[in-house]
Amino acid sequence: MIRMNDFQKDPETLLQGQLRATERVFRSGYYILGPEVKKFEANFAKALGAKFAVGVANGMDAIEIGLRALGIGPGDEVITTPMTALATVLAIHRAGATPVLADIDGDSGCLSLESTQRCLSKKTKAVLLVHLYGQLRNIQAWKTFCEANQIHLLEDCAQSHLAQDSGKFAGTFGTYGAFSFYPTKNLGAIGDGGCLITQNETLAQESQVIRNYGQKNRYEHIALGMNSRLDELQAAILSERLTYLAEFTEKRRVVADQYFAAIKNSKVTLLAKPQQRENHVYHLFVLRTAKREELMKHLQAKGVESLVHYPINAHQQPIFTHLTKDPKGLSTAETFSKECLSIPCHPHLTNAEISTVVNSINEF
Ligand SMILES: *Cc1c(COP(=O)(O)O)cnc(C)c1O
Repeated sequence: MIRMNDFQKDPETLLQGQLRATERVFRSGYYILGPEVKKFEANFAKALGAKFAVGVANGMDAIEIGLRALGIGPGDEVITTPMTALATVLAIHRAGATPVLADIDGDSGCLSLESTQRCLSKKTKAVLLVHLYGQLRNIQAWKTFCEANQIHLLEDCAQSHLAQDSGKFAGTFGTYGAFSFYPTKNLGAIGDGGCLITQNETLAQESQVIRNYGQKNRYEHIALGMNSRLDELQAAILSERLTYLAEFTEKRRVVADQYFAAIKNSKVTLLAKPQQRENHVYHLFVLRTAKREELMKHLQAKGVESLVHYPINAHQQPIFTHLTKDPKGLSTAETFSKECLSIPCHPHLTNAEISTVVNSINEF
C-alpha cells in the first residue's frame, strides 16, 4: 500500500538522533518546560525568522492562547474558513470569541478575500487565515486588507511549516502564527505539540503566562490561564526533526512537481499551482473530482491510499450550524467538500510509487 504518511521510512540517522535526544531527556531529570523547550523555541524562531516562539501543548491551543493574549474574546468576531480542521473554529469558540465563516476560492480551497469583505462588521477583530494544505495565497493582499480595516491578521500555520513568500516564512506576516506538531504535520512530534510565533514581545510574554496556569512567577497568577505546556521529550524530538525539515519540504515539492507534470485525466482537476514554488510546502496534495467515491475505490484497488480533507465543512457540523456566515452563502466550500481528494505526498515516496499514483489516476 502506498500510504499517505510513512514514518518508518525516516532515515536511520534521524532515528538515531531522536533516540539520543530521548536518552538526553531521561538523563536530565527535567520533563516539562525546561532547557529542551527553550532550545527548541530558539531553534524554531530562528528557522522562521521570528523574534519569539512559545511552545504549547498543541496547535489548537496555540490559536486559542494567541487570541486570549490579544484580549480577543466575548463580543468579538473572528472571520475564518469553514474548510479546515475543525480545531481552527473550535479554538476561536474556546477563546470566547464568535467565529464568522466566509467562503473559499475553489481553485485553492483557501479563504476568499471577497467573501471575507462581506463578513466584516463593527465587531470584527481579526481574520484567522488558514494556509490550507501548506499554501500561502495572496498574503500581501491579506496584509493590506487587514491593515486597511484595522483588524489583526492571524495565521493558522498547522499545515504550512516553512512555506514562504518574498523570502519571509508563514507565521511572520500576521500578529502571530500558530503551529501544530501533530505527528502527521510537516514538522511532527511523537505525540501532541504546538507553538505560537510572533514578533511582539508583550504577546509572547502573555502567551507564556497563559500556557502555564496564568502564572507570572511560581504561584503568582495574573491571568485566567490554561495548562498547555510543551514537554521536554517532544521539544528534544522536534529539534532533531527540525534539522531535516528543509530537505523533507524540498522532497514534497519534487513529488508535487511530478504530479503537476504527469496527472492528466478529464475527470480530475488539480488545484491551482502556487504563484511561486516557495509558497507551497505540500502538507497535502489535493485534487478535485466529481467522481470521488469511484476514484477512491479505484486507487484503493491499485494499492494507493487516499483521504478527504475535509468532507464536512465547519458550518455543516451540528455544533456549528448556527454560526454567522457570508450572507451570500458558502456554496464554493460546500461543493469543494464533495470533490476534494488528497493523494499520497510525503518525503519518502519513491519514483516508482509516484509513477504508480500517477498511472492509477490517469487510467481512471
Ligand atoms: C492540525 C490542525 C490544527 C490543530 O492542531 P492540533 O495540534 O491537532 O491541535 C489546526 N488547524 C489546522 C489547519 C490543522 O491542520
